[in-house]
Amino acid sequence: MTQQPIRIVIAGGGTAGWMTAAAMSRTLGRTAHVTLVESDMIGTVGVGESTIPPLVNYLRLLNIPEPDFMRATHATFKLGIQFDNWRVPGESYFHSFGGTGKDHWTAGFQHFWMEGKARGHDVSYDEYCTELVAARESRFAHLPDGRLNYAFQLDATAFARFLRGIAEGEGTQRVEGKIAHVEMDGESGDVAALTLESGTRIEGDLFIDCTGFRALIMGQALHIGYDDWTHWLPCDSAIAVQTSSVRPAVPYTRAMAHDAGWQWRIPLQHRVGNGIVYCSRYLDHDAAEERLLGNIEGETTTKTNRLRFVTGARRKQWHRNCVAIGLSSGFMEPLESTSIHLIQRAIMRVIRMLPAGRVSERDEAEFNAQQMQDMEQIRDFLILHYKATDRRDSAFWRHCASMEIPDSLAHKIALFRETGRVFRTNEELFVENSWIQVMMGQGIMPQSHHPVAGKLSDRELEHLLRGLRETVAKTVGSLPAHADYVAKYCGAQ
Ligand code: FAD
Repeated sequence: MTQQPIRIVIAGGGTAGWMTAAAMSRTLGRTAHVTLVESDMIGTVGVGESTIPPLVNYLRLLNIPEPDFMRATHATFKLGIQFDNWRVPGESYFHSFGGTGKDHWTAGFQHFWMEGKARGHDVSYDEYCTELVAARESRFAHLPDGRLNYAFQLDATAFARFLRGIAEGEGTQRVEGKIAHVEMDGESGDVAALTLESGTRIEGDLFIDCTGFRALIMGQALHIGYDDWTHWLPCDSAIAVQTSSVRPAVPYTRAMAHDAGWQWRIPLQHRVGNGIVYCSRYLDHDAAEERLLGNIEGETTTKTNRLRFVTGARRKQWHRNCVAIGLSSGFMEPLESTSIHLIQRAIMRVIRMLPAGRVSERDEAEFNAQQMQDMEQIRDFLILHYKATDRRDSAFWRHCASMEIPDSLAHKIALFRETGRVFRTNEELFVENSWIQVMMGQGIMPQSHHPVAGKLSDRELEHLLRGLRETVAKTVGSLPAHADYVAKYCGAQ
Protein backbone atom coordinates (compact mmCIF):
# COMPACT_ATOMS: atom_id res chain seq x y z
CA MET A 1 0.00 0.00 0.00
CA THR A 2 1.48 3.37 -0.95
CA GLN A 3 1.72 5.90 1.86
CA GLN A 4 -0.03 9.24 1.79
CA PRO A 5 2.43 12.08 1.03
CA ILE A 6 3.83 13.62 4.22
CA ARG A 7 2.46 17.14 4.66
CA ILE A 8 5.41 19.44 5.35
CA VAL A 9 4.61 23.02 6.38
CA ILE A 10 7.45 25.53 6.32
CA ALA A 11 6.82 28.70 8.32
CA GLY A 12 8.91 31.55 6.89
CA GLY A 13 10.39 32.34 3.50
CA GLY A 14 13.85 33.75 4.10
CA THR A 15 17.03 31.96 3.04
CA ALA A 16 16.22 29.12 5.46
CA GLY A 17 12.61 28.66 4.34
CA TRP A 18 13.30 28.66 0.62
CA MET A 19 16.47 26.53 0.88
CA THR A 20 14.37 24.00 2.78
CA ALA A 21 11.44 24.15 0.37
CA ALA A 22 13.65 23.78 -2.72
CA ALA A 23 15.59 20.85 -1.26
CA MET A 24 12.57 19.02 0.09
CA SER A 25 10.30 19.41 -2.89
CA ARG A 26 13.03 18.48 -5.38
CA THR A 27 14.34 15.53 -3.34
CA LEU A 28 11.11 14.07 -2.01
CA GLY A 29 8.92 14.53 -5.09
CA ARG A 30 5.50 12.91 -4.77
CA THR A 31 6.23 11.55 -1.33
CA ALA A 32 5.80 14.98 0.24
CA HIS A 33 3.41 17.86 -0.07
CA VAL A 34 5.30 21.05 0.78
CA THR A 35 3.59 24.30 1.77
CA LEU A 36 5.50 27.49 2.66
CA VAL A 37 3.92 30.44 4.47
CA GLU A 38 5.60 33.83 4.42
CA SER A 39 4.56 37.35 5.20
CA ASP A 40 5.47 40.23 2.91
CA MET A 41 4.58 42.55 5.78
CA ILE A 42 7.30 41.09 7.99
CA GLY A 43 10.00 40.52 5.36
CA THR A 44 13.33 38.76 5.81
CA VAL A 45 16.50 39.66 7.67
CA GLY A 46 18.01 40.55 4.27
CA VAL A 47 21.64 39.73 5.08
CA GLY A 48 23.71 36.55 4.85
CA GLU A 49 25.79 36.90 1.72
CA SER A 50 29.10 35.17 2.36
CA THR A 51 29.21 31.36 2.25
CA ILE A 52 31.56 28.39 2.58
CA PRO A 53 32.36 25.53 0.16
CA PRO A 54 29.64 23.00 1.14
CA LEU A 55 27.09 25.25 -0.61
CA VAL A 56 28.58 23.96 -3.87
CA ASN A 57 27.27 20.52 -2.84
CA TYR A 58 23.81 21.89 -2.12
CA LEU A 59 23.64 23.14 -5.71
CA ARG A 60 24.93 19.82 -7.05
CA LEU A 61 22.52 17.73 -4.99
CA LEU A 62 19.65 19.79 -6.32
CA ASN A 63 20.97 19.72 -9.91
CA ILE A 64 21.14 23.50 -10.03
CA PRO A 65 23.51 24.69 -12.78
CA GLU A 66 26.11 26.94 -11.18
CA PRO A 67 26.06 29.65 -13.88
CA ASP A 68 22.25 29.96 -13.56
CA PHE A 69 22.59 30.33 -9.81
CA MET A 70 25.42 32.87 -10.14
CA ARG A 71 23.58 34.96 -12.71
CA ALA A 72 20.43 35.02 -10.60
CA THR A 73 22.20 35.91 -7.36
CA HIS A 74 24.90 38.20 -8.84
CA ALA A 75 27.38 35.91 -7.12
CA THR A 76 31.14 36.02 -7.12
CA PHE A 77 33.50 33.22 -6.10
CA LYS A 78 35.02 33.16 -2.65
CA LEU A 79 38.35 31.56 -1.72
CA GLY A 80 38.52 32.66 1.90
CA ILE A 81 38.40 35.55 4.32
CA GLN A 82 41.00 38.23 4.91
CA PHE A 83 41.21 39.16 8.60
CA ASP A 84 42.54 42.67 9.21
CA ASN A 85 43.58 44.07 12.61
CA TRP A 86 42.69 40.95 14.61
CA ARG A 87 46.00 40.11 16.28
CA VAL A 88 47.17 43.72 16.29
CA PRO A 89 45.96 46.78 14.36
CA GLY A 90 47.64 47.06 10.96
CA GLU A 91 48.28 43.32 10.49
CA SER A 92 46.31 40.97 8.23
CA TYR A 93 46.08 37.24 7.61
CA PHE A 94 44.00 34.93 5.44
CA HIS A 95 41.81 32.03 6.39
CA SER A 96 41.46 30.37 3.01
CA PHE A 97 39.68 27.27 1.83
CA GLY A 98 41.69 24.20 0.80
CA GLY A 99 44.84 22.73 2.26
CA THR A 100 48.36 24.07 2.70
CA GLY A 101 51.40 22.18 1.38
CA LYS A 102 51.22 18.43 1.52
CA ASP A 103 50.55 16.39 4.67
CA HIS A 104 52.46 13.20 5.47
CA TRP A 105 50.48 10.52 7.30
CA THR A 106 52.64 10.97 10.35
CA ALA A 107 52.43 14.73 10.54
CA GLY A 108 50.69 17.65 8.86
CA PHE A 109 52.59 19.97 6.53
CA GLN A 110 52.95 22.57 9.30
CA HIS A 111 55.55 20.35 10.97
CA PHE A 112 57.73 20.31 7.83
CA TRP A 113 57.26 24.04 7.41
CA MET A 114 58.34 24.60 11.02
CA GLU A 115 61.37 22.36 10.54
CA GLY A 116 62.23 24.55 7.53
CA LYS A 117 61.81 27.68 9.65
CA ALA A 118 64.14 26.25 12.28
CA ARG A 119 66.72 25.64 9.52
CA GLY A 120 66.51 29.19 8.22
CA HIS A 121 63.77 29.07 5.54
CA ASP A 122 61.80 32.25 6.00
CA VAL A 123 59.05 31.82 3.40
CA SER A 124 55.56 32.42 4.84
CA TYR A 125 53.18 29.48 5.42
CA ASP A 126 50.75 31.31 3.09
CA GLU A 127 52.87 30.62 -0.02
CA TYR A 128 52.03 26.91 0.13
CA CYS A 129 48.27 27.30 -0.24
CA THR A 130 46.82 27.64 -3.75
CA GLU A 131 43.48 29.12 -2.62
CA LEU A 132 45.21 31.70 -0.46
CA VAL A 133 47.64 32.89 -3.11
CA ALA A 134 44.87 32.94 -5.74
CA ALA A 135 42.66 35.02 -3.40
CA ARG A 136 45.48 37.49 -2.72
CA GLU A 137 46.12 37.88 -6.44
CA SER A 138 42.38 37.97 -7.21
CA ARG A 139 42.48 35.09 -9.66
CA PHE A 140 40.05 32.25 -10.14
CA ALA A 141 39.05 29.36 -12.41
CA HIS A 142 37.46 25.99 -11.85
CA LEU A 143 40.24 23.41 -11.68
CA PRO A 144 39.80 19.67 -12.24
CA ASP A 145 39.50 17.32 -9.24
CA GLY A 146 38.42 20.13 -6.92
CA ARG A 147 41.96 21.49 -6.84
CA LEU A 148 40.62 24.95 -5.99
CA ASN A 149 38.07 24.92 -3.19
CA TYR A 150 35.57 27.71 -3.41
CA ALA A 151 32.29 29.09 -2.16
CA PHE A 152 30.18 32.08 -3.21
CA GLN A 153 29.41 35.63 -2.20
CA LEU A 154 25.78 36.21 -3.14
CA ASP A 155 22.79 38.54 -2.95
CA ALA A 156 20.63 37.10 -0.13
CA THR A 157 17.29 38.44 -1.39
CA ALA A 158 17.98 37.25 -4.92
CA PHE A 159 19.02 33.83 -3.56
CA ALA A 160 15.68 33.36 -1.77
CA ARG A 161 13.83 34.47 -4.94
CA PHE A 162 15.83 32.05 -7.09
CA LEU A 163 15.13 29.14 -4.74
CA ARG A 164 11.47 30.07 -4.62
CA GLY A 165 11.33 29.60 -8.39
CA ILE A 166 12.82 26.11 -8.04
CA ALA A 167 10.57 25.15 -5.12
CA GLU A 168 7.39 26.34 -6.81
CA GLY A 169 8.45 24.60 -10.02
CA GLU A 170 8.63 21.36 -7.99
CA GLY A 171 5.16 21.85 -6.56
CA THR A 172 5.74 23.77 -3.33
CA GLN A 173 2.62 25.73 -2.53
CA ARG A 174 3.34 29.28 -1.33
CA VAL A 175 0.85 30.97 0.97
CA GLU A 176 1.18 34.67 1.66
CA GLY A 177 -0.01 35.85 5.06
CA LYS A 178 0.85 36.45 8.65
CA ILE A 179 0.73 33.47 11.00
CA ALA A 180 -1.43 34.53 13.96
CA HIS A 181 -1.70 31.29 15.89
CA VAL A 182 0.06 27.93 16.27
CA GLU A 183 -2.56 25.28 17.03
CA MET A 184 -1.53 22.33 19.17
CA ASP A 185 -3.05 18.86 19.19
CA GLY A 186 -4.37 18.53 22.74
CA GLU A 187 -3.90 14.78 22.81
CA SER A 188 -0.44 14.25 21.31
CA GLY A 189 1.13 17.62 22.11
CA ASP A 190 2.23 17.92 18.47
CA VAL A 191 1.72 21.02 16.34
CA ALA A 192 -1.55 20.51 14.47
CA ALA A 193 -1.90 23.59 12.26
CA LEU A 194 -0.94 27.20 11.63
CA THR A 195 -3.73 29.76 11.47
CA LEU A 196 -3.15 32.92 9.51
CA GLU A 197 -4.59 36.36 10.29
CA SER A 198 -6.86 35.86 7.27
CA GLY A 199 -8.36 32.83 9.03
CA THR A 200 -6.75 30.30 6.66
CA ARG A 201 -5.76 27.14 8.53
CA ILE A 202 -2.81 25.03 7.35
CA GLU A 203 -2.56 21.51 8.73
CA GLY A 204 0.62 19.46 8.55
CA ASP A 205 2.46 16.35 9.68
CA LEU A 206 5.87 18.01 10.00
CA PHE A 207 6.43 21.73 10.67
CA ILE A 208 9.67 23.53 9.90
CA ASP A 209 10.15 26.77 11.83
CA CYS A 210 12.02 29.18 9.54
CA THR A 211 10.55 32.33 11.05
CA GLY A 212 13.95 33.84 11.83
CA PHE A 213 14.77 35.45 15.18
CA ARG A 214 11.04 35.34 16.08
CA ALA A 215 11.12 31.51 16.34
CA LEU A 216 7.34 31.56 16.21
CA ILE A 217 6.77 27.83 16.64
CA MET A 218 9.86 26.52 18.44
CA GLY A 219 10.33 29.46 20.79
CA GLN A 220 6.97 31.16 21.19
CA ALA A 221 4.58 28.17 20.90
CA LEU A 222 6.69 25.23 22.09
CA HIS A 223 8.73 27.28 24.61
CA ILE A 224 12.02 25.57 23.81
CA GLY A 225 14.71 27.52 25.66
CA TYR A 226 17.85 29.11 24.32
CA ASP A 227 21.47 28.77 25.48
CA ASP A 228 23.00 32.23 25.60
CA TRP A 229 26.68 32.29 24.54
CA THR A 230 27.21 36.04 24.84
CA HIS A 231 29.78 35.55 27.58
CA TRP A 232 32.01 33.95 24.92
CA LEU A 233 30.94 35.91 21.86
CA PRO A 234 29.98 39.33 23.23
CA CYS A 235 28.88 41.09 20.01
CA ASP A 236 25.11 41.63 20.04
CA SER A 237 24.40 44.11 17.24
CA ALA A 238 24.99 44.68 13.55
CA ILE A 239 24.25 47.35 10.98
CA ALA A 240 24.23 46.48 7.28
CA VAL A 241 24.36 48.71 4.21
CA GLN A 242 24.93 48.11 0.51
CA THR A 243 27.23 50.19 -1.67
CA SER A 244 28.13 50.48 -5.34
CA SER A 245 31.28 48.70 -6.53
CA VAL A 246 34.35 50.84 -7.06
CA ARG A 247 36.72 48.11 -8.23
CA PRO A 248 36.53 44.62 -9.75
CA ALA A 249 35.19 42.12 -7.22
CA VAL A 250 37.84 40.16 -5.32
CA PRO A 251 37.28 36.45 -4.52
CA TYR A 252 37.31 36.91 -0.77
CA THR A 253 35.39 38.50 2.08
CA ARG A 254 37.06 40.98 4.41
CA ALA A 255 36.61 40.95 8.18
CA MET A 256 38.15 44.12 9.59
CA ALA A 257 38.39 44.29 13.37
CA HIS A 258 37.75 47.61 15.11
CA ASP A 259 37.91 48.51 18.78
CA ALA A 260 34.52 46.95 19.69
CA GLY A 261 33.95 44.25 17.05
CA TRP A 262 34.53 44.05 13.32
CA GLN A 263 33.26 45.09 9.89
CA TRP A 264 32.54 42.97 6.83
CA ARG A 265 32.93 43.72 3.13
CA ILE A 266 31.46 41.25 0.64
CA PRO A 267 31.96 42.03 -3.06
CA LEU A 268 29.25 40.84 -5.47
CA GLN A 269 29.08 41.27 -9.24
CA HIS A 270 26.96 44.43 -9.11
CA ARG A 271 27.49 45.87 -5.61
CA VAL A 272 29.20 45.39 -2.26
CA GLY A 273 27.60 44.21 1.00
CA ASN A 274 28.93 45.95 4.11
CA GLY A 275 28.16 45.68 7.77
CA ILE A 276 29.49 46.39 11.20
CA VAL A 277 29.24 43.86 14.03
CA TYR A 278 29.76 45.22 17.53
CA CYS A 279 29.15 44.87 21.20
CA SER A 280 26.67 47.53 22.33
CA ARG A 281 28.24 47.60 25.80
CA TYR A 282 31.34 49.14 24.24
CA LEU A 283 29.97 51.04 21.21
CA ASP A 284 26.58 52.70 20.92
CA HIS A 285 24.39 52.23 17.87
CA ASP A 286 24.79 55.75 16.42
CA ALA A 287 28.56 55.67 16.83
CA ALA A 288 28.63 52.22 15.16
CA GLU A 289 26.62 53.53 12.20
CA GLU A 290 28.91 56.51 11.86
CA ARG A 291 31.94 54.23 11.96
CA LEU A 292 30.47 51.94 9.31
CA LEU A 293 29.59 54.80 6.96
CA GLY A 294 33.04 56.30 7.49
CA ASN A 295 34.75 53.08 6.38
CA ILE A 296 32.98 52.10 3.17
CA GLU A 297 33.91 52.55 -0.46
CA GLY A 298 31.46 53.67 -3.13
CA GLU A 299 28.00 55.21 -2.76
CA THR A 300 25.42 53.74 -0.40
CA THR A 301 22.54 52.25 -2.37
CA THR A 302 20.30 51.25 0.57
CA LYS A 303 19.33 52.62 3.95
CA THR A 304 21.19 51.19 6.92
CA ASN A 305 19.59 48.08 8.44
CA ARG A 306 20.03 47.75 12.24
CA LEU A 307 19.88 44.27 13.75
CA ARG A 308 20.09 42.99 17.32
CA PHE A 309 20.87 39.39 18.20
CA VAL A 310 21.64 37.06 21.06
CA THR A 311 24.43 34.64 20.21
CA GLY A 312 23.51 31.12 21.19
CA ALA A 313 21.62 27.98 20.31
CA ARG A 314 18.08 26.73 20.80
CA ARG A 315 18.33 23.86 23.30
CA LYS A 316 16.38 21.52 21.06
CA GLN A 317 16.20 22.13 17.36
CA TRP A 318 13.83 19.23 16.74
CA HIS A 319 10.94 18.83 19.17
CA ARG A 320 7.99 16.52 18.50
CA ASN A 321 6.86 17.27 14.92
CA CYS A 322 8.66 20.62 14.59
CA VAL A 323 12.21 21.40 13.46
CA ALA A 324 13.85 24.84 13.73
CA ILE A 325 16.06 25.74 10.78
CA GLY A 326 17.88 29.05 10.29
CA LEU A 327 17.90 31.93 12.75
CA SER A 328 15.08 30.32 14.78
CA SER A 329 17.54 27.56 15.74
CA GLY A 330 20.23 29.88 17.04
CA PHE A 331 22.71 32.42 15.80
CA MET A 332 26.41 33.01 15.74
CA GLU A 333 27.85 36.13 14.21
CA PRO A 334 28.86 35.80 10.55
CA LEU A 335 32.62 35.95 11.21
CA GLU A 336 33.25 32.64 9.42
CA SER A 337 30.09 32.67 7.25
CA THR A 338 28.59 29.60 8.90
CA SER A 339 24.83 30.28 9.19
CA ILE A 340 23.78 29.25 5.70
CA HIS A 341 25.92 26.17 6.12
CA LEU A 342 24.08 25.24 9.34
CA ILE A 343 20.81 25.66 7.45
CA GLN A 344 22.09 23.29 4.77
CA ARG A 345 23.23 20.71 7.33
CA ALA A 346 19.89 20.82 9.13
CA ILE A 347 17.97 20.38 5.86
CA MET A 348 20.05 17.37 4.84
CA ARG A 349 19.62 15.83 8.28
CA VAL A 350 15.85 16.28 8.33
CA ILE A 351 15.58 14.74 4.89
CA ARG A 352 17.70 11.77 6.01
CA MET A 353 15.59 11.35 9.15
CA LEU A 354 12.23 11.99 7.54
CA PRO A 355 9.62 10.22 9.67
CA ALA A 356 7.65 7.44 8.02
CA GLY A 357 4.79 7.97 10.47
CA ARG A 358 5.06 9.42 13.91
CA VAL A 359 8.35 11.09 14.78
CA SER A 360 10.78 8.71 16.49
CA GLU A 361 12.17 10.12 19.72
CA ARG A 362 15.48 8.56 18.78
CA ASP A 363 15.60 10.49 15.50
CA GLU A 364 14.79 13.64 17.42
CA ALA A 365 17.56 13.01 19.96
CA GLU A 366 20.07 12.10 17.25
CA PHE A 367 19.26 15.20 15.22
CA ASN A 368 19.57 17.47 18.26
CA ALA A 369 22.88 15.96 19.30
CA GLN A 370 24.36 16.29 15.80
CA GLN A 371 23.16 19.88 15.30
CA MET A 372 24.38 20.96 18.73
CA GLN A 373 27.78 19.39 18.12
CA ASP A 374 28.11 21.35 14.86
CA MET A 375 27.18 24.56 16.61
CA GLU A 376 29.55 24.05 19.53
CA GLN A 377 32.45 23.29 17.21
CA ILE A 378 31.77 26.44 15.20
CA ARG A 379 31.32 28.45 18.41
CA ASP A 380 34.79 27.40 19.60
CA PHE A 381 36.34 28.36 16.28
CA LEU A 382 34.76 31.82 16.43
CA ILE A 383 35.83 32.39 20.04
CA LEU A 384 39.42 31.65 19.00
CA HIS A 385 39.46 34.85 16.88
CA TYR A 386 38.60 36.99 19.91
CA LYS A 387 40.52 35.20 22.62
CA ALA A 388 43.87 34.73 20.88
CA THR A 389 44.72 38.36 20.31
CA ASP A 390 47.53 40.68 21.31
CA ARG A 391 45.15 43.65 21.18
CA ARG A 392 44.78 45.47 24.48
CA ASP A 393 43.94 48.88 22.96
CA SER A 394 40.28 48.99 24.05
CA ALA A 395 38.08 47.72 26.89
CA PHE A 396 36.41 45.33 24.41
CA TRP A 397 39.66 43.60 23.43
CA ARG A 398 40.91 43.53 27.02
CA HIS A 399 37.68 41.77 27.94
CA CYS A 400 38.08 39.24 25.09
CA ALA A 401 41.70 38.48 25.91
CA SER A 402 40.91 37.81 29.56
CA MET A 403 37.60 35.93 29.23
CA GLU A 404 37.13 32.29 30.18
CA ILE A 405 36.78 29.96 27.20
CA PRO A 406 35.24 26.49 26.80
CA ASP A 407 37.54 23.64 27.88
CA SER A 408 37.30 22.12 24.40
CA LEU A 409 38.86 25.25 22.90
CA ALA A 410 41.43 25.72 25.67
CA HIS A 411 42.63 22.16 25.00
CA LYS A 412 42.89 22.72 21.25
CA ILE A 413 44.91 25.91 21.66
CA ALA A 414 47.24 24.39 24.27
CA LEU A 415 47.84 21.28 22.17
CA PHE A 416 48.75 23.33 19.11
CA ARG A 417 50.96 25.67 21.10
CA GLU A 418 52.86 22.80 22.71
CA THR A 419 53.10 20.34 19.80
CA GLY A 420 51.95 21.96 16.52
CA ARG A 421 49.21 19.33 16.33
CA VAL A 422 45.53 19.83 15.65
CA PHE A 423 42.96 17.09 15.16
CA ARG A 424 39.65 17.11 13.35
CA THR A 425 37.11 14.89 15.08
CA ASN A 426 33.45 13.99 14.51
CA GLU A 427 33.23 15.42 10.99
CA GLU A 428 34.00 18.90 12.27
CA LEU A 429 33.30 21.59 9.69
CA PHE A 430 36.63 23.36 10.07
CA VAL A 431 39.51 21.17 8.98
CA GLU A 432 43.02 21.20 10.45
CA ASN A 433 44.27 23.80 7.98
CA SER A 434 41.53 26.26 9.04
CA TRP A 435 42.57 25.99 12.67
CA ILE A 436 46.26 26.30 11.79
CA GLN A 437 45.78 29.38 9.62
CA VAL A 438 43.67 31.15 12.22
CA MET A 439 45.78 30.11 15.21
CA MET A 440 48.99 31.28 13.53
CA GLY A 441 47.23 34.38 12.17
CA GLN A 442 46.15 35.24 15.70
CA GLY A 443 49.71 34.79 16.94
CA ILE A 444 49.78 31.26 18.38
CA MET A 445 53.06 29.68 17.27
CA PRO A 446 53.90 26.06 18.18
CA GLN A 447 56.79 25.58 20.58
CA SER A 448 57.76 22.25 18.99
CA HIS A 449 56.95 20.11 15.99
CA HIS A 450 56.96 16.45 15.01
CA PRO A 451 60.47 14.90 15.04
CA VAL A 452 59.80 13.06 11.77
CA ALA A 453 60.38 16.31 9.87
CA GLY A 454 63.98 16.20 11.10
CA LYS A 455 64.51 13.03 9.09
CA LEU A 456 64.85 15.05 5.89
CA SER A 457 68.31 16.25 4.90
CA ASP A 458 68.73 19.97 4.16
CA ARG A 459 68.61 19.18 0.44
CA GLU A 460 65.49 17.05 0.74
CA LEU A 461 63.67 19.65 2.82
CA GLU A 462 64.65 22.46 0.47
CA HIS A 463 63.51 20.35 -2.48
CA LEU A 464 60.16 19.57 -0.83
CA LEU A 465 59.40 23.16 0.16
CA ARG A 466 60.52 24.69 -3.12
CA GLY A 467 58.60 22.12 -5.15
CA LEU A 468 55.38 22.81 -3.27
CA ARG A 469 55.79 26.58 -3.61
CA GLU A 470 56.52 26.32 -7.30
CA THR A 471 53.42 24.20 -7.89
CA VAL A 472 51.26 26.79 -6.12
CA ALA A 473 52.86 29.68 -8.01
CA LYS A 474 52.50 27.88 -11.35
CA THR A 475 48.86 26.96 -10.72
CA VAL A 476 47.91 30.46 -9.64
CA GLY A 477 49.88 31.99 -12.50
CA SER A 478 47.74 30.05 -14.96
CA LEU A 479 44.46 31.41 -13.56
CA PRO A 480 42.58 34.34 -15.12
CA ALA A 481 41.53 37.44 -13.21
CA HIS A 482 38.56 36.59 -10.99
CA ALA A 483 36.25 39.34 -12.29
CA ASP A 484 36.94 38.36 -15.95
CA TYR A 485 36.25 34.72 -15.17
CA VAL A 486 32.96 35.51 -13.43
CA ALA A 487 31.79 37.67 -16.34
CA LYS A 488 32.61 34.95 -18.85
CA TYR A 489 31.21 32.11 -16.75
CA CYS A 490 27.93 33.90 -16.22
CA GLY A 491 27.74 34.85 -19.87
CA ALA A 492 27.64 38.55 -19.09
CA GLN A 493 30.15 39.41 -21.82
P1 FAD B 1 14.64 35.50 7.99
O1 FAD B 1 15.39 35.95 6.81
O2 FAD B 1 14.40 36.52 9.07
O3 FAD B 1 13.22 34.97 7.48
C1 FAD B 1 12.14 34.80 8.35
C2 FAD B 1 10.89 34.53 7.54
O4 FAD B 1 9.84 34.25 8.45
C3 FAD B 1 10.43 35.69 6.67
O5 FAD B 1 9.99 35.21 5.42
C4 FAD B 1 9.24 36.25 7.43
O6 FAD B 1 8.27 36.81 6.58
C5 FAD B 1 8.69 34.97 8.05
N1 FAD B 1 7.86 35.20 9.24
C6 FAD B 1 8.25 35.58 10.48
N2 FAD B 1 7.16 35.70 11.28
C7 FAD B 1 6.09 35.36 10.52
C8 FAD B 1 4.69 35.31 10.75
N3 FAD B 1 4.15 35.63 11.94
N4 FAD B 1 3.89 34.93 9.74
C9 FAD B 1 4.39 34.60 8.52
N5 FAD B 1 5.69 34.65 8.25
C10 FAD B 1 6.53 35.04 9.22
N6 FAD B 1 24.89 33.84 7.18
C11 FAD B 1 25.84 33.41 6.36
O7 FAD B 1 25.89 32.21 6.04
N7 FAD B 1 26.77 34.27 5.86
C12 FAD B 1 26.79 35.58 6.21
O8 FAD B 1 27.63 36.33 5.72
C13 FAD B 1 25.83 36.04 7.13
N8 FAD B 1 25.81 37.33 7.55
C14 FAD B 1 24.89 37.71 8.49
C15 FAD B 1 24.96 39.00 9.04
C16 FAD B 1 24.08 39.38 10.05
C17 FAD B 1 24.19 40.73 10.67
C18 FAD B 1 23.06 38.49 10.46
C19 FAD B 1 22.06 38.91 11.50
C20 FAD B 1 22.97 37.24 9.90
C21 FAD B 1 23.90 36.83 8.95
N9 FAD B 1 23.89 35.55 8.43
C22 FAD B 1 24.86 35.12 7.58
C23 FAD B 1 22.80 34.63 8.79
C24 FAD B 1 21.78 34.62 7.64
O9 FAD B 1 21.35 35.92 7.38
C25 FAD B 1 20.60 33.75 8.01
O10 FAD B 1 21.05 32.49 8.43
C26 FAD B 1 19.70 33.54 6.82
O11 FAD B 1 19.36 34.75 6.22
C27 FAD B 1 18.46 32.79 7.22
O12 FAD B 1 17.53 33.60 7.85
P2 FAD B 1 16.12 32.99 8.14
O13 FAD B 1 15.52 32.53 6.86
O14 FAD B 1 16.23 32.03 9.25
O15 FAD B 1 15.29 34.23 8.72
